[in-house]
Amino acid sequence: MSRAEFDARFPDRAACARYLAAKRWPDGFVCPACGVCKGWELETKPFTWECSGCHRQTSVTAGTVMHRSKLPLRTWFEAIHQLASHSNGISAEQAQAQFGIGSYKTAWLLLHKLRRAMVSPHRSLLQAMVETDETEVPLRSKHDPIKGYGIPNVGKLLIIGAVELSPDGHPRRVRLEPLRDRTGENVRGFVERVVAPDATVVSDGLASYLKLGEHRHVGKTVGSMAAHILLPWVHRVFANLKRWLTGTFHGARKQHLKRYLDEFTFRWNRRRHTRTAFDNLLGLVTRLPHASLRDFVDQRV
Ligand SMILES: [Zn+2]
Repeated sequence: MSRAEFDARFPDRAACARYLAAKRWPDGFVCPACGVCKGWELETKPFTWECSGCHRQTSVTAGTVMHRSKLPLRTWFEAIHQLASHSNGISAEQAQAQFGIGSYKTAWLLLHKLRRAMVSPHRSLLQAMVETDETEVPLRSKHDPIKGYGIPNVGKLLIIGAVELSPDGHPRRVRLEPLRDRTGENVRGFVERVVAPDATVVSDGLASYLKLGEHRHVGKTVGSMAAHILLPWVHRVFANLKRWLTGTFHGARKQHLKRYLDEFTFRWNRRRHTRTAFDNLLGLVTRLPHASLRDFVDQRV
């Protein structure tokens, strides 16, 4: 969906609220408190329904990621559109300016709330042939609303990635995670979390992959050949990831690295379905409860 299409489809709050209500309650309002399927829309409070059973009032954003937000609903829609469809996503500085948000912190929180929703609870394990490798990304230190928390903002961050290949060798889905170190325990832990047990794992032959339990493993010996030739797709993903982290964010931060990896993964896995990515993300946003700034800072979510 282009920006012009978005503006035509969602010109104002009412259009956004109608769309959201239809998405949440395709067969009509269902009370989230008691499950009664009857209710009426209040004339006095826009886009709020009252349950005919328990009389509780429910706004269209209640019980979603957008709950309790002071931001206009259309700003949420703009941000969802940008994150889902625009290949570079958006930084908090850009979001603040582009969506006219009062503070950097509010923009930062908006984006992190959406990133949190970018992992589908129904994601499945990678199948068939899977390339895996590790890489390092530069760390960012400035322009964050939250200081301290005892994690030094210097050096580089280690990332592990996996790319699922089709039978003719083309990339399908990716998975990316921060990696504490290259020990067998952590490398195998990642493979076991993301790769189906009957899949074949192709790596550069790092010793940590050698003791994979149930997975078939093909360790390509790097020798004189560069890893990007042996494992072309995982390296292409890493290159894209680094270009994005550096270009949009000037590097990543350790505390929130996982969220950025989730955002990248969301778009990569939907790169051929950008039309449905918006609906996809909006759906995920409606099914996840609200979290506060404190929850993000304390890493409770
Ligand atoms: Zn009810």
